[in-house]
Amino acid sequence: MTSYRWVPGLMSYRLTGISLTHPARLLMSSKRTSLRNRAYRNQHGRCFYCGRAMWQSSPVPFAQRCGLTSRQARQMQATAEHLLARCDGGKDTESNIVAACDFCNRHRHCRKTAPSPEHYRTLVQQRVAAGRWHCWVGKPREAARQKSG
Ligand SMILES: [Zn+2]
Repeated sequence: MTSYRWVPGLMSYRLTGISLTHPARLLMSSKRTSLRNRAYRNQHGRCFYCGRAMWQSSPVPFAQRCGLTSRQARQMQATAEHLLARCDGGKDTESNIVAACDFCNRHRHCRKTAPSPEHYRTLVQQRVAAGRWHCWVGKPREAARQKSG
C-alpha cells in the first residue's frame, strides 16, 4: 500500500508507505548510499566482482591517476550492488549490499537471469585474467614507459 502526504510549505512528500515512485527512491537511496560507502571502505575501494579500483565522488582525479578517458572512468564509479536483487526480495541491508563498479553491476543485471554473485564473480575474474574485462584498465598510456627511460 502506498500513500504520500503532501506537506505544505516543506515542498516535499512525507513518506508513509513503500513505493517505487520518485520521492521514495530518493529517501531509500540515501540509506543505500551510506551502505555503499561502508562496503566501499570494507573492500578498500575495490569492486566486489572485478577487484579493480573504483571512485566515489569525482571521476576526474581517478581518470588522471589511472590514465583513463572520462568515459572509461565513469564505468568505474562505485555503485551499491544488491547480492540478492531487489526484484527477488533483496533488501537494503549491510549483508546484502556490496560495492561494485558500474560496469560489473550493469552487466550482471542486463542478463535475462542474473547469475548468482559467486558465479558472476568467477566469470568476471576469468575475463579479467584473460584481458577481456575493463581491458583498458591497468594499461597506463605512455607514463610507464617514460618512467624507465
Ligand atoms: Zn567491477
